[in-house]
Amino acid sequence: MTMDPDAISAADRFEGCVLGLALGDAMGAPYEGGILERTLWRVIGRTRDGRRRWTDDTQMSVDIMESVIELGRIDSDDLSARFALSYHWSRGYGPATAKVLKRIRRGVHWSKASYSVFRDGSFGNGAAMRAPIIGLFDAMAPERINQSVAASAIVTHAHELAIQGAQLIAHAVAASVLGESSEEILSRMTELALDEQFRSRLAKVRQWREAGQQPSPREVAKALGNGIAATHSCVTAIFIALAFRDRLIANMLEFVVRVGGDTDTIGAMAGAIWGAGNGASKIPEELVTAIEQHQRLRELAIALYQRTISTPTL
Ligand SMILES: [Mg+2]
Repeated sequence: MTMDPDAISAADRFEGCVLGLALGDAMGAPYEGGILERTLWRVIGRTRDGRRRWTDDTQMSVDIMESVIELGRIDSDDLSARFALSYHWSRGYGPATAKVLKRIRRGVHWSKASYSVFRDGSFGNGAAMRAPIIGLFDAMAPERINQSVAASAIVTHAHELAIQGAQLIAHAVAASVLGESSEEILSRMTELALDEQFRSRLAKVRQWREAGQQPSPREVAKALGNGIAATHSCVTAIFIALAFRDRLIANMLEFVVRVGGDTDTIGAMAGAIWGAGNGASKIPEELVTAIEQHQRLRELAIALYQRTISTPTL
């Protein structure tokens, strides 16, 4: 037991991860997509009392938290039912995920629906955006992470690259909860990344860091990607979270917006990793209260923490 007064408690890190995810999602959402999506979000992007709405990234993370808090494990069938029930067009789900969830809602089993739009399953970042919750739940049992992430991913994003990207994000969150250094996290990522598309981008990140370079948002978008594919967004989010680890979350999210592309999901993933490393107490209160259902998110994070510490790791 550490008595360091500056030590960040595990509960604070859980809360920081969940709030960071929702904040990155809600702050990135107005800048995502083309002119049509942005115009629509200008209309539906605020609640009646003026708070920033979050999108599918946070909704699916809430679904996983509620499932895990109730069951104490990752269960594909239960997640499938919750994802389908929570689906609403105004949360900005990707078109392929929307089709899969509507099919599940009509009674098609996820094992069929998940392959019904793309033959090998979706390789988008929709599994990665909700993977931080699994990184939290399995933080004390990292050997479980890959399997847990796959069990969540396969319901809507069964492609191997979607799963690998989600595993990287979950491991980055788990390592951040444990207070690992950025260098430790990056070497863990390099050991875990199997596909060359992730490996080459991680190599670029390490090269920048070793040279002490601070690439511009445009350079980050060009070298690491800013798209909806897991290969073009997961390493981007990890890089940004580590680059801004000792800086303000608001500055990090401004950078995310300037990188452009899939800003809500890159913001959600970077926000989650940043929050797991820094804790909720480092997120300014006025940013938290500006987002919808912030109190519910805090309560879910704490309930998830309590469930995690009471779940056997063996
Ligand atoms: Mg979204």
